[in-house]
Amino acid sequence: MSDLAHLKNYISELHERYRNNHDGTLATYIPELGKANPDHFGITMVTADGQEFSVGDVQQEFTIQSICKPLAFLMALERYGREETLRHVGIEPSGEAFNSIQLDRSNRPFNPMVNAGAIAVASLIKGDSPESGVNDFVKRLSLAAGRELRVDSSVCASESATGNRNRSIAYLLRNFEVVDDQVDHSLHQYFSQCSVLVNTRDLAMIGATLANIGENPLTHEEVFDMRYVKDALSVMLTCGMYDYAGEWAYRVGVPAKSGVAGGILAVVNRQLSIAVYSPRLDARGNSVRGIKVCTDLAEEYGLHAFDFMNFGSNFIKAL
Ligand code: GLN
Repeated sequence: MSDLAHLKNYISELHERYRNNHDGTLATYIPELGKANPDHFGITMVTADGQEFSVGDVQQEFTIQSICKPLAFLMALERYGREETLRHVGIEPSGEAFNSIQLDRSNRPFNPMVNAGAIAVASLIKGDSPESGVNDFVKRLSLAAGRELRVDSSVCASESATGNRNRSIAYLLRNFEVVDDQVDHSLHQYFSQCSVLVNTRDLAMIGATLANIGENPLTHEEVFDMRYVKDALSVMLTCGMYDYAGEWAYRVGVPAKSGVAGGILAVVNRQLSIAVYSPRLDARGNSVRGIKVCTDLAEEYGLHAFDFMNFGSNFIKAL
């Protein structure tokens, strides 16, 4: 069997393997997310030269949630450069849950992947008006996905109505002057970023754009400044899975980011990306099936950065 046929078969096999795994629960602290169909399950892989392999509910839209965070970080870096951006947010794993109310010794959020850091970043890229900051963000993600994306206003309203914990984080950041006094505007930016609707094909194409150092492999649009793609990927590797980040780096070994709607995006630099959607989450807020699929794929194809097979750096050539 060719490698290509093997890959197609293997992704279908993984879907079959975990289809009947019903472990985990939906996120209900954002009430709208509790309405998802818990059985939905889609897997898409896109290579850095644009070949796509999909199985399952890959057209099903869900909100991107925290997977917006590395992309917003990238946009802040493009706009303000490293020095200024890192004055507002650190790059150190916190070992804490995504919504932890905790700052580092210099009263900065630990990293851009936890909510505190993402709110600081949202404040940096929020623009002059609530509409313009959100539009810029959605436009950029649309270019990366190769399709026009939009915000799910019901999820955004639902999160805003119940987002008191994020609101308290934002005021803590205001207290330490990490964000300016437009706290509501920054929160609107953050909630809207989290509410962008994607399916696994969009997400995998966004990931392939990162894998292809910022250029969408199909449209050839230069979406992200190539100088900062490595910044986003490195914080994804060290902090993307929150308090599972160490174990993820150990077992899977590639940059990744999860979201509480049930998406996971994993990127193999210069080679490919994997997007999984399955809304049942474990206690840390990561998709149960998503973790299993990525772990098995990394094992099967040697995608781990330090795997002895080192197939991860030769994936496309081998197809
Ligand atoms: N919007 C969510 C929140 O702030 C994002 C969290 C996540 O996806 N881990 O709680």
